[in-house]
Amino acid sequence: MSTDRMGQAKEWLDSADHVVALTGAGISTESGIPDFRGPKGLWTRDPDAEKLSNIRYYLDDPAIRVRAWRARLDSPVWAAEPGAGHQALARLEACGKLKTVITQNIDGLHQLAGNSPENVIEIHGTVREVACLTCSYRAPMTKVLVRLQAGEADPDCPLCGGILKSATISFGQSLVPQDLARAEQAARHSDLLLAVGSSLSVYPVAGLVPLARDFGAQIIIINAMPTDMDPVADAVLLGNIGEVLPALF
Ligand code: NAD
Repeated sequence: MSTDRMGQAKEWLDSADHVVALTGAGISTESGIPDFRGPKGLWTRDPDAEKLSNIRYYLDDPAIRVRAWRARLDSPVWAAEPGAGHQALARLEACGKLKTVITQNIDGLHQLAGNSPENVIEIHGTVREVACLTCSYRAPMTKVLVRLQAGEADPDCPLCGGILKSATISFGQSLVPQDLARAEQAARHSDLLLAVGSSLSVYPVAGLVPLARDFGAQIIIINAMPTDMDPVADAVLLGNIGEVLPALF
């Protein structure tokens, strides 16, 4: 990466006072959680695994639910610790610059790193809770992990017997309108948007990048590979998040 581009990005960050971070799975790979579309991504290695994140297959096929719950039980999320990238963003909030983290991640590592939960918008939900797809039941994931460990393969809702799912937004499910509205508002009010570890290929989240730019924000993208939004960025910093992000401030 050119030191010029890095120096320029540092200057922009230094003079910004309303930073918004938009994060994706790439910020968590150094914590041991694979992304989807990177070279070692879950879907790159096993395209069929995408079905586990599709609400149609999940509702229609009990075998997919059993696979999905097994994957949750065995997930690296439960042992994962925030990485250098998460910690850098927590420091950026602590010094008053970073106002909002909009994350596509469902792992809760930004909050574990120290970002205030009220400043983190989990646009694709969280794996740390479960929700019933029929009634309003919602509970910590730990309750269901205990049932899975006890031998249940497809635990149902304890209130209505409906289908349970992690409180994540699968393909085919709508985003929570209030979360999207908050994310759009944050993007419009930012003076610098840092997009970190996302292929920026999933909409409407990817659309927050041109939205912020149209409202006057500078755009810095940090990722290991080119992203779909590189053409609208002021700077693209190609590299490992755990090295590039802490080196910026
Ligand atoms: P993605 O897999 O499409 O893109 C991740 C990007 O990060 C890739 O371009 C990859 O090259 C890059 N990357 C990976 N490790 C990196 C590193 N150490 N340094 C720099 N770059 C790195 O992920 P996405 O854009 O977030 O979209 C995928 C969807 O998958 C999201 O909707 C999200 O909800 C979900 N997801 C979440 C998690 C999680 O919570 N950690 C994990 C996998 C998928």
